[in-house]
Amino acid sequence: MAHTEYKMISLPKLNNLQPGLESTCLKLMEEAGELAQLIGKFRGLNGEEITMDKQSLVENITGELLDVAQVAVSMMFVLEDEYGVDIEDKIQTHISKLIKKGYIKGKGVESSD
Ligand SMILES: [Mg+2]
Repeated sequence: MAHTEYKMISLPKLNNLQPGLESTCLKLMEEAGELAQLIGKFRGLNGEEITMDKQSLVENITGELLDVAQVAVSMMFVLEDEYGVDIEDKIQTHISKLIKKGYIKGKGVESSD
């Protein structure tokens, strides 16, 4: 039986600003752009000479990916706080969708043998 691996991440609700759907969506695009830019650099896609060493690039890519995750989480808080969305419930719906589409085989329950 295939084992499904999960990545648990816990990111904070930012308390120094008043985000909305538009601002978090724009910020998400901005952070996704920063991530894409770094990967372009990593792959040398822009034709520039790569001046950063590979390890630093990978660390910066990871940092940008976490920025994307942080903004996604911030947008989830907006959906909960402003629009009454139950994110936990939507996560279950999302997992069910992944199972239905064949991306994962189940909820990660391993057989006891
Ligand atoms: Mg960033």
